[in-house]
Amino acid sequence: MEMLRDIKSMTLAELKEAFSGAGLPAYRAGQVFSWLGRGVESFEEMTNLPRALRDSLKDNYYISVAALEKKQVSRYDNTVKYLFRLNDGERVESVLMQYHYGLSQCISTQVGCRMGCTFCATGQSGFSRNLTASEMLAQIQAAQKDAGERVSHLVLMGMGEPLDNYDNVLRFLRLVSAEEGLNLGMRHISLSTCGLVDQIARLAEERLQLTLSISLHAPNDEIRSRTMPVNRRWGVDELLRACRDYAKKTGRRISFEYAMIAGVNDSEACARELAAKLKGMLCHVNLIPVNDVTGSGYRRSSAGQLERFSKALQSRGIPVTVRRTLGSDIDASCGQLRRRHEKEANCIDSVQ
Ligand code: SAH
Ligand code: SF4
Repeated sequence: MEMLRDIKSMTLAELKEAFSGAGLPAYRAGQVFSWLGRGVESFEEMTNLPRALRDSLKDNYYISVAALEKKQVSRYDNTVKYLFRLNDGERVESVLMQYHYGLSQCISTQVGCRMGCTFCATGQSGFSRNLTASEMLAQIQAAQKDAGERVSHLVLMGMGEPLDNYDNVLRFLRLVSAEEGLNLGMRHISLSTCGLVDQIARLAEERLQLTLSISLHAPNDEIRSRTMPVNRRWGVDELLRACRDYAKKTGRRISFEYAMIAGVNDSEACARELAAKLKGMLCHVNLIPVNDVTGSGYRRSSAGQLERFSKALQSRGIPVTVRRTLGSDIDASCGQLRRRHEKEANCIDSVQ
């Protein structure tokens, strides 16, 4: 059988080209693009297309869907965690958070991750494959459908390393921000990376107005290489150089994520070292108490230690926030729900 083409990953221009190659008028491409943007899950639903066209689309293309497999709602806040099943049966997670400014969704960019960070559930459960642009869009459409409300903000901070799936992520960013598509402003999108320096440099050249978020988690190579294998390839200083360059080229403030792990990276000496290295950079540090999800024995820093660390940065002119831990009762760090799901599946397997 001929391979079906992923129609929801196509831009409007690409659709028009493909349609004109098939002798179809351009406005048909516009109609199809608009249906796809509205999240239809079959060609049958494209009711303003002639039957013959719907049939021929079905013979040549497929539509990516994120089917809702499991949903957990936090008792403490309105955070919702989804487990979605993709067309080929792979599963990814996504989290929906309610803020005063609207709905913010955290989406996955890969099934698993190759980066192997020791504190991360996704990193510890291996890599399966990259997500296509359409599968990233499908996560948003499924959440919007469930919530009955538009998602206004987006973070690429779910499962996977977005810059390890550069082409699909860039395609997704262009699609999701397209006026004829979901029309989400780049300024409402954050991309989080563990620090693939070569790809950060590449992204800087795109001059996008999104927020680059760096999972730093340590002020020096000695500590960072222990928890983040990627640091053995590109060290802290090299990473920070790429960040300065990114901020200069895009004019955008860099956001540094820093998971506070008791006795590992949370001393005042660490804070001082970090402040010295970030000095003069257009940036902001986000402190997050680490979630012990990998059984690695990492404990979150105490409230007092968090406070001291934060003060030490602030007094040296570095803007700091302590991230609210949303949905703490529903494993709201990505990678956790899928892992639990697999464990349960394994249990069932072993009983049979
Ligand atoms: N791969 C990208 C984006 C996905 S990870 C990245 O690493 O940035 C999303 C965020 O969750 C990252 O900042 C990551 O460091 C953080 N994270 C992963 N496991 C965590 C844990 N157990 N506790 C706190 N933060 C964690
Ligand atoms: Fe991958 Fe990010 Fe997890 Fe590291 S923290 S393993 S880069 S998903």
